[in-house]
Order: sequence, then structure tokens, then C-alpha cells
Amino acid sequence: MEKIIYMDNAATTSVSDDVLSAMLPYFKGKFGNPSTIYSLGKDARSGIENARKQVAKAIGAKEKEIFFTSCGTESDNWAIKGAAFAGIKKGKNHIITSKIEHHAVLHTVNYLAKNGFDVTYLDVDHNGLINPEDVKNAITDKTALVTIMYANNEIGTIEPIKEIGKICREKGVIFHTDAVQAVGHIPVNVLEDNVDMLSLSAHKFHGAKGVGALYIRSGVRIETFMEGGAQENKKRAGTENVAGIVGLGKAIEIACENIEEKNKILSQKRDKLIDELLKIERSRLNGDRVRRLPGNVNISFEGIEGESLLLLLNMAGICASSGSACTSGSLDPSHVLLAIGLVHEIAHGSLRLSLDNNNTFEEIDYVVQEVNKIVKRLRDMSPLWERIIKGENK
Ligand SMILES: *Cc1c(COP(=O)(O)O)cnc(C)c1O
Repeated sequence: MEKIIYMDNAATTSVSDDVLSAMLPYFKGKFGNPSTIYSLGKDARSGIENARKQVAKAIGAKEKEIFFTSCGTESDNWAIKGAAFAGIKKGKNHIITSKIEHHAVLHTVNYLAKNGFDVTYLDVDHNGLINPEDVKNAITDKTALVTIMYANNEIGTIEPIKEIGKICREKGVIFHTDAVQAVGHIPVNVLEDNVDMLSLSAHKFHGAKGVGALYIRSGVRIETFMEGGAQENKKRAGTENVAGIVGLGKAIEIACENIEEKNKILSQKRDKLIDELLKIERSRLNGDRVRRLPGNVNISFEGIEGESLLLLLNMAGICASSGSACTSGSLDPSHVLLAIGLVHEIAHGSLRLSLDNNNTFEEIDYVVQEVNKIVKRLRDMSPLWERIIKGENK
């Protein structure tokens, strides 16, 4: 097998040809610093302002509410620390989040917890859903921020963001959502969703790595994060990643075109993969079957070890993940899978395949065939599997 089958689009995506073509002029011809007044700099400036329009349009925001950053992680850090430090000035030191957030959120909140903030980590149900009532009950007059992800990067569950946003708006609490897995993948509208701040990242929808954006609703006051020059309306210092930003604008525009139609086909591919893999004995689907990202498949196989599965899939030319890219490499089971109630052994045997529109039905057939072979092979040599089967025969 020479060709590589890429099914790890939740980790990152390739830069599309159209995005690359849009970016290229800004490395050489239009290389000027956007803060200068000569034409060369103005060309760069208009590239950025055009991208700002594209991003604003894609999520239903105003241009002045879009701030470019260096990545999704920076957007999350800025939103959370910025709201926390603004909150403390008003005597508010409480933050609400969930147990299944990306580490960009969880570790930021942990940092604040170590520095005097009270944090509530909300539980999720067995499908990874947060109950909006739990958010409501957790809010106190000390709450500075609620931060809940739009869609989970591991199990694909889409959270009830609109309902949570409504509660926060009624209670007058700032609501941030990490929408890095959602924007460009499902329709997102900051007004309908009652969101105050939203993080997104270009490389998850065929833009370049190292560029993201934070939406901050007009009127929402948070502290700045990067101190320095007057860029981004004096809110995010540092010379802009012009080519990256231009690419982000192009990528979000393309990703959001006919998104519902594209998702019909993508979710058919996803469902085929899920249905076929669930035919393997003692397998289970992780995440909500219906409220699910159109490209996400996450399945656990009892009696096997996810890392071995990934290595053998790699030998078959298939790129996949066992949890999130951040947790592979460590042997701790995914905090998301534990939060939805999986025991350690089962959490260890899980596989995430994240599809995008480029994946074909033929690729899905091949992956199903290879996963079947590999799971059988690993189980044949697994003492754990032997014990599971014996237990069954008792
Ligand atoms: C990828 C990801 C991030 C981090 O974005 P970067 O641009 O890679 O820093 C944050 N949150 C979620 C949900 C993600 O999937």
C-alpha cells in the first residue's frame, strides 16, 4: 500500500490549493508590514482586512469583533485569562468549565485554579453532553466566566451551546466557547448561539498551522494578553501573520460554502464507517450518535491497546489517532473517555478516525478491512482478550 489514507482531520488538515494560492503573494510580492503607510504595507493591510470580513461573515459577527491570533490555543488562553483578570477587578473569581475540554482550555483553567480562582468542572453524560441546567445551577454572583467547547475533538459530541449561551446571557456572565472543531465543519452563528467569545483555528479547516482568531462580542471587556504594539485594535500586539491570516480567510470562506450539503455526504461516510466497525464484536461507539460532528468516528475495542492498533494501521498506510494528538505519546487514558464513564482498559483500546470531504467510500472500505484484520491479530495475542472471552464463557 503506497498511498496514504488520511483520517486524522481533527488533528490537522492539509492546506488546500486555493488557500495556498491566496497565501503565496504575501510571502514575497506583498511582504510589507501592515502597520506601515506606503502601498506595500497597505497591500498587506488590505489582505488582513479582507480576511477579517470573511471570518466575520462565516460566523455572523461584525468585522471589528474579530481578532487574529497565533492559534486556537492562544485564542483560548486569551479569552479565559482575559475574562478572569477582568473579573477579578470586579470581585469575581469563579470559572465554570467542563471535564471534557481540550487541554488548551483545561490547562489554562488549571493554571488559574492554582492562582486563586475557584473552578467548577462540570460532568458530562455518557455521550459527552453537558446539561445546561448544570451550568445554570453552578453560576453564582462570583462567576466571571463560563467556558464550554462547541464540539469535542475526541468523541465529536456537539454541545447545547445556544441553550448554555442563553443562560449565561440571562445571568450576565461572559460565555466563551472553544469552537475549534466546529467552525468550518458545522454552521456556527455567534448571534444565534448567544456567544460572547469564540475561538477558531485555521489548520482544522484546510488553512495553515499557526494562525487563529478570537471573536469578542462588542461591549465585552477582557484584558489583553499579548502586550506590545498597537496591532489588532490595540488588543493583540505583534506583527500579523499576514499570509496565514489571508489563508484563514480563504479557508473559512471555502469551508462554509454549501456546508449543509457537504455534510450530508460526509455524515453518510461517517455512518458507514461507524456501522461497519460496530460489527466487530465487543466494540462500542463513543460520543453521541446524533449530536455528532459529521466527520467524527470514535470506537473502543475491548481487549486491545490503542497504540498498537495505531502502529499497525500506520503500516497499512492509515493515519488515525487513539485520543487527541496531545494525549498520544503519554500512556494516560484520555480524560474525555474517562469522563464519559469508560473504564481504563476500554478507554485504552479506542480509535478516532476523523474524516473530511476528501475521504472516499473506497478508503472507508479499505480502513474497515484493515481494522478488522488488525483487531483480530491483536486480540489473538492479548492475554486481556483471553480473560474477557473466558469470563464470557463462565
Ligand atoms: C486543535 C484544537 C485546539 C488547539 O488549536 P491550535 O490551533 O492547534 O492551537 C483547541 N481546541 C480544540 C477543540 C482543538 O481541536
